[in-house]
Amino acid sequence: MTNKYPHLALIVAFFMLCMSAQAVTREEVVAGAELLYRARIVEAQSKFQLDNDPAFLARVQRIALGLIEQAKREHPVTAALDWEIHTSDDPEESAFCMAGGKMLVSHNYVNTMDLNNAELAMLLSHEIQHAVLEHNLKEFQEALRIEPNLQKYSFLALEDAVDHDETLMAKLSKFNVEQENQADLEGLQMAWRAGWPALKLAGFFQKLARIDPMAHFDSLEHPAPARRWQAARKLAEELDQIKAPAVPMR
Ligand SMILES: [Zn+2]
Repeated sequence: MTNKYPHLALIVAFFMLCMSAQAVTREEVVAGAELLYRARIVEAQSKFQLDNDPAFLARVQRIALGLIEQAKREHPVTAALDWEIHTSDDPEESAFCMAGGKMLVSHNYVNTMDLNNAELAMLLSHEIQHAVLEHNLKEFQEALRIEPNLQKYSFLALEDAVDHDETLMAKLSKFNVEQENQADLEGLQMAWRAGWPALKLAGFFQKLARIDPMAHFDSLEHPAPARRWQAARKLAEELDQIKAPAVPMR
């Protein structure tokens, strides 16, 4: 079905998000992500940084779609998500997946890391987990739990605080690091079940640890790259002992 009034849908979403964030809902989070993603895409377009290399876009989409099919098999609720995948030439970007399955992958990041297809699959599978496991929704719920005062504000104000209020971000750090760990390990297992060799997937983390001068230090949002590599390698070695699933995706 085509939507004759796409702007109307965005306006309705915007007003919905201006209401109080007493109990944040899945619909609010997806609508909020849609607004942020659309703004990010329009910005990239205006700077001529969007989807400039058709071969790279096709490579990312082909690998991501295989993983999304696997996500649908494992989590049928994700079949309802309106997945969208774009690439960017923004040198500041790496990769992200917002609530509802809105993804952006930096060509520059993948080139700098010199990722092969299995390593790119690991990056994408990690990002896909954030949408599958509803990490944005859970982060907002955690923010409301530790700062009940935020319930008085609109969802948009809550979203802004979670992204920009440094005091709140520091309080959410441990929770976010745990979500990143979960995206690493669940992402590795899902991509392996989709047919990718586990140790080749884990190679992504080895490259991450090699190029990062701060590889042994945790950041506010991510565990130390060296620890991510150690955990991924251990899991991959265990998975490769098991019979590989017979769903080749390459
Ligand atoms: Zn992540």
